[in-house]
Amino acid sequence: MTTPLHVLNHTFGYQQFRGQQAAIIDTLCAGNNALVLMPTGGGKSLCYQVPALVRPGCAVVVSPLIALMQDQVDTLKALGIDAAFLNSTLSFDAVQKVERDLRQGHLKLLYVAPERLTQPRTLALLRSVNINLFAIDEAHCVAQWGHDFRADYLQLSLLAEHFPHVPRIALTATADMRTREEIAQRLGLTQARHFVSSFDRPNIQYRITEKRQAREQLLRFIQHEHPGQCGIVYCLSRKRVEDTAHWLSLRGVQALPYHAGMSNEERALHQQRFLQEDAIVMVATIAFGMGIDKPDVRFVAHLDIPKSIEGYYQETGRAGRDGEPATAWMAYGFNDVVLLSNMLKESSGSEEHKRREHHKLDAMLGLCEAAGCRRQLLLKYFGEEAPEPCGNCDNCLHPPQQWDATIAVQKALSCIYRTGERFGVNHLISVLRGADNENIRRHHHQMVSTYGIGQDLSPHAWRSIYRQLVAMQLVIVDTEAYGALKLTEACRPVLKGEQTVWLRQEQMSTKTTPKRTAKSADLHPEDQALFQALRGLRKRLAEFEKVPPYIIFNDATLIQMAEERPLTQHELMRINGVGDKKRDKYGADFLEIIHQHEYPEEA
Ligand code: ADP
Ligand code: ZN
Repeated sequence: MTTPLHVLNHTFGYQQFRGQQAAIIDTLCAGNNALVLMPTGGGKSLCYQVPALVRPGCAVVVSPLIALMQDQVDTLKALGIDAAFLNSTLSFDAVQKVERDLRQGHLKLLYVAPERLTQPRTLALLRSVNINLFAIDEAHCVAQWGHDFRADYLQLSLLAEHFPHVPRIALTATADMRTREEIAQRLGLTQARHFVSSFDRPNIQYRITEKRQAREQLLRFIQHEHPGQCGIVYCLSRKRVEDTAHWLSLRGVQALPYHAGMSNEERALHQQRFLQEDAIVMVATIAFGMGIDKPDVRFVAHLDIPKSIEGYYQETGRAGRDGEPATAWMAYGFNDVVLLSNMLKESSGSEEHKRREHHKLDAMLGLCEAAGCRRQLLLKYFGEEAPEPCGNCDNCLHPPQQWDATIAVQKALSCIYRTGERFGVNHLISVLRGADNENIRRHHHQMVSTYGIGQDLSPHAWRSIYRQLVAMQLVIVDTEAYGALKLTEACRPVLKGEQTVWLRQEQMSTKTTPKRTAKSADLHPEDQALFQALRGLRKRLAEFEKVPPYIIFNDATLIQMAEERPLTQHELMRINGVGDKKRDKYGADFLEIIHQHEYPEEA
C-alpha cells in the first residue's frame, strides 16, 4: 500500500506536509472523523485528497461552489488523478458517464453539489460502490449562525446515518467558536478530533493608509510594488468598480471590472481571464472572490473600508495563497465611515441586527486607527493571542508617532458642541480653521467660541483627529442628519480636563516605500532572467492547453527552478511542486530552458 508521504512526494510533488496536514490525514486513514479549521491558503484540500488516494475506493467531496468544480477537477487531472464532478451543469450523457466510471471503480475523487448528494438516487448509487471518505468543504454553510448558510447543507447530517462506517471530514476557514460548535453538532462530529490551526497568514503584509487621492495612491502602490502582477481591488459600489477599472486601464494597468450588475457572460469571461492570465488586476465588489482559488494573487487592495473584520480577513485572505509574500493594502477616510453608517441605517433588518452590524463596523474602525500591530489585533478578534508584534505590518515596520493631543481633542469636541452637534466633519474643520465661506456666514459661525482656534493644524490633521475620535467612540456619526458628528458620554472627562488623550500622528508623506514583493523580486538578476524565461514557457504551455498557468507550475516552483537549476529529470524531482506526472509531461521542456541558460554557448 502507498503511504501518505509517498503520495505527497510523487503525485503532488511536495516534499513535506504542512502544519497539521499529516495528523489530519492519519486520522482519516485510520478510519476516524475530523473537523478542520484552517485559514484560506492553509492547505485544506490535501487533507482529504491524500487519504482519498491512499485508501481503496473513491472519496466524495461535497462543495457548494458549483462554478469551481470544473477547475478543481482539472487541477487533479493535471496531476494524473482520476476525478470527476456531478452537478446541475452536466448533460444527461455526462452524468451517465460519471456514474459508470464510479461503478467500475475508475474514480478516486468525486465532487458533488449538496442538493444532488442528498437525493435518494445518489445515495443509492453511493451505497452500491466503495466510498472511502466524505469531505464536506466550506462546512460553515451548515451553520445558521454563520455568514453563509445554505439550507441544502442541513441535509448532510444524514451521511452519518447512511454511511456510519465511512470517515467524514468537515473543513472550513471560518473561525469563531459558535460556528464551530454548530458544525460539529449538525454534522455529527462532536466526538471527532478537532484540528484548529492558527489564523495567522504570516506572508501577508497588512497596511492601512489614510485616503487622500485614493486612485493615485492605488496606482502608485501597484506600479511600485506589484507591477505586472495579479491582484484584486475591492470597491463598495458598482459605479466605483467601473470607474476605477477604466481609470487604471488608461494608465497601463490591465484592469477588469467585476460586479453583480454585469451580464453573466461578461462576468464569466473576466473571471476566466483573471484565473488564466498572470497580470490581471480584478476591480470588484465583494460579489467576487468566494471560492476563487488562485494561488498567485500578489495583492488585495481595498479602496473602501469593509463592513467588518470578518469581511476584511476573508477578502485579504485571497492574497498569497501560495505562501509567497503578498500585500493587503487599504486606503480609508472619513467619508467611508459616514457612507457605511448610512448604509447600515437604511438596510432592512431588525434593530438587533443593525446593532450587531454597527458593532462590527466599530471593530473594523478600531483596526484602521490602531497604533499597534495590526496582526495582533486581527488575531485577537478571532480569539487568538499573538505574543509578539509581527514585524510585517505597517505599524510594526514604521511605528506611528504618538502625541499628547489632549488640547486639540478638547478643541475638536467643543467645536461639535458649540455648533449644536448638527454638522459634518468638513464644516467643523472650517470653523476650527477660521474659514470664511457661505456656510460659516449663514450659520453665523464666526461668532462661536471655537472659530479659528485650530489654525495650528492642517485640515488633514483635523480629519485624522476626528476619525480617531470616532474609532475611540468619543464621537459618533449621526445617521439621522447625514454625517453630523455627536458627542458621547465618554467625552466628559476629556472636556473637563481629567483625561489625557494620546493620538496617532498621521504619516505626512504618502510615498509608498518599495517593499519585498514576491520572492522573485529577490532573485539574483541572472536567476531573474531564467525565471522570466520559465514563465514564458509556462504561459505558452498554458495557452496551448487552455488552462491557467498555475495549473502547470506555480510561481514558487518556477522561482525554485530558477535558483536551483536542475539539469536532469532526477534533479527536477527535488523541486517543490514537481511530481511524476508533471515531470513526464513538462519536465523536458523546462529542463531545456534551464540548460540553455546554464550553457548559453551551446545554444
Ligand atoms: P485552502 O483550501 O486551505 O485555501 P489549498 O488546499 O488550496 O488551501 O492550498 C493552498 C496552496 O498551498 C495550494 O497551492 C497548495 O498546492 C499548496 N500546498 C498545500 N499543502 C502543501 C504542502 N504540504 N507543501 C507545499 N504546498 C502545499
Ligand atoms: Zn505587526
